[in-house]
Amino acid sequence: MEEKTILVIEDNEMNMKLMRAVLRVGKYRMLEAKDAETGLSLAREHHPDLILMDIQLPGMDGLSATKIIKADPELKGIPIFALTGFAMESDKAKATDIGLAGYIVKPFSVKSLLETLENHFIGPTAPH
Ligand code: MN
Repeated sequence: MEEKTILVIEDNEMNMKLMRAVLRVGKYRMLEAKDAETGLSLAREHHPDLILMDIQLPGMDGLSATKIIKADPELKGIPIFALTGFAMESDKAKATDIGLAGYIVKPFSVKSLLETLENHFIGPTAPH
């Protein structure tokens, strides 16, 4: 499988460190942004294969950034998973409305994050 590039937009350094470790295990190439504005410019410059988007960010929040990406013909095809500390049923409905590919609820485990990414890129693993 060709190397996939994942843009992580996350302001919390602890979570970013964990992401770095997880994505290294999964052999993903990683781009990092600590705020939505930087994330948007990295997305425009690099066209990542997937974006992991924290919802609560300084300045522009992750849902607003998602709406901007989904309104941009050049970027709207990039799947975005929201990183959130809480996912209410109402949030899940809103997520679908604004075009999120899914939610990753924090704190996430290494295994569940890798599985989410693998399911996305190569489909669910067959039982064995
Ligand atoms: Mn945050």
